Amino acid sequence: MAETTTFVQRLFQKIYDVILNVEDELAQLDSVAGDGDHGAGMVRGFNASLEADLSGDTATAIKNAGKAFANAAGGSSGALVGMFIMQIGNSLPEENITAPDVAKGLRAGLNAICKLGKAKVGDKTMIDTLSPFVDTYEEAAKTTADVSKAWIAALPSAEKGMESTRDMTSKRGRASKLGDRSLGHIDPGARSMYYVARTVGEALANETETP
Ligand code: ADP
Ligand code: MG
Repeated sequence: MAETTTFVQRLFQKIYDVILNVEDELAQLDSVAGDGDHGAGMVRGFNASLEADLSGDTATAIKNAGKAFANAAGGSSGALVGMFIMQIGNSLPEENITAPDVAKGLRAGLNAICKLGKAKVGDKTMIDTLSPFVDTYEEAAKTTADVSKAWIAALPSAEKGMESTRDMTSKRGRASKLGDRSLGHIDPGARSMYYVARTVGEALANETETP
């Protein structure tokens, strides 16, 4: 008989599989103006998340996943993504999670990484994907309690935000030192966060019950 898994275990397995598939692409994007380690960092981080204790309630499991990510991933993105995940876990209720709960969690996560990294929309970072995603998720959560529906509704904004980084020059992190070299290329962190958001959307859509 198959081992019983929790939603968060299935979710982080899916994210890990996707990130492993795009590791080289992320590395290439990061080598345009950065140091090329973004793919490896994301793989390390999500591998650690997967090995964390994800067996409990959704909120606690997400918190543990974020903590493990932050400890393992390294680089500027490691601390930021780890913090983002952890804050979502911190603000979710233990059960009966609704879209407004997730909206609150996403906003708390975004606020925390904006404070930590001091990046704004337009600086060519992961914030350019996450911020419009969170804005649209919040709007959607006003009209539906369904976590998955709101997530799917917000994905196009994440994609548009990610694409918008192509026409930007880096203002934050390592890539900012090489100024215009990144122009014409998508920011690696914006790209990875879009892949993660899309994968979470797919995982939520596959669940028969709301986690
Ligand atoms: P490092 O820059 O330390 O090598 P990574 O290569 O793993 O770390 O991650 C680079 C990504 O991190 C960038 O593409 C960008 O999206 C994101 N990033 C860097 N600095 C910041 C910041 N201050 N705020 C938000 N995101 C940032
Ligand atoms: Mg890097």
